[in-house]
Amino acid sequence: MTSAEINEIQVLLSTPKHIVIVPHKNPDGDAMGSTLALYHYLKQYNHEALVIAPNDYPDFLKWLPGDDTVLKYESDTDNCQKLIHQADLIFTLDFNALHRVGPMGDDIANSKAIKLMIDHHQQPDDYAMYVYSDVSMSSTCEMVYRFIDLLGDDELVTPEIATCLYTGIMTDTGSFRFPSTTSQTHYIIGKLIDRGANNAKIHNAIYDTNSYEKLQLLGCALRNLKVIPELRTAYITLSQDELNQFDFKKGDTEGFVNYGLSLNNIVFAAIFIEHKKENIIKISLRSKGDFSVNEFSRQYFEGGGHTNAAGGKSDLNLDETIEKFISILPSHKNELTS
Ligand code: 5GP
Ligand code: MN
Repeated sequence: MTSAEINEIQVLLSTPKHIVIVPHKNPDGDAMGSTLALYHYLKQYNHEALVIAPNDYPDFLKWLPGDDTVLKYESDTDNCQKLIHQADLIFTLDFNALHRVGPMGDDIANSKAIKLMIDHHQQPDDYAMYVYSDVSMSSTCEMVYRFIDLLGDDELVTPEIATCLYTGIMTDTGSFRFPSTTSQTHYIIGKLIDRGANNAKIHNAIYDTNSYEKLQLLGCALRNLKVIPELRTAYITLSQDELNQFDFKKGDTEGFVNYGLSLNNIVFAAIFIEHKKENIIKISLRSKGDFSVNEFSRQYFEGGGHTNAAGGKSDLNLDETIEKFISILPSHKNELTS
């Protein structure tokens, strides 16, 4: 983002506007943390700001400050369409292609609002007038902190904003362990703690509120874990029947894919989850080192993301999807074993 662009945005924000802030579909901690933090920031300038999520998100995010103000497009479509239509500015956070918000993407594309993107995923699309895109960033939350700072408003970071931003940085970095975590990330985290983010409480709220059923489902996933040692790959499957058996709720499988990657000598891990209602298999991919799951997902599973974390989907059934996955792997043997 150039200083000329920052100046233009400062001018835009200097008078009250109707502002809609949008995270990606199936929002995670970074998506909800960044959008709600920006919401709390903009409210201080007396803007009519609000967060519209494409659909619902897991309960473990529902304590975030401002959660009660979030609208959901999927269950409140007419109202959300009206608000998008009336908006002067639309911020899109933690995604960079409008298909990532589902049908709501058409409303955003057709809106006359000025669009601003803040995001850290690879290969951004060209729909926004102002693009703050940086794939080296740990999280969109880290970028929102930097954005507020660039606007000269570091002093406006309240305990609510600090709590939202801490949450997203923590979840997107795997609690500060992924390589995207830099000394600057830790510096910003320190600032957020100084500004009122209660780190112990946030860790507890996100990670220590498991239900008994969720842990049973994890047990099932771990029993289903398969390893292909010669390709340094591990994968997990969960069928709809298995999800039903353990009373699956949105968010229950978050993080399961990482167990595959925690195995000694494994550099590529996947989880395949059957969603009968949508008739798709949802796929999460993770890697260590240079093997790009972003490229892999784009090439074979209609998805994308980052080098070491990506998502995708398959229209085949669960068994066929696994067959496809296993048949593709040998052509990547060099990258996986070098
Ligand atoms: P997850 O596996 O946790 O759903 O997603 C991992 C990462 O990939 C996240 O940064 C997420 O935003 C991104 N991602 C997930 N699904 C898709 C997809 O279908 N397309 C793209 N471009 N990115 C995705
Ligand atoms: Mn993110």
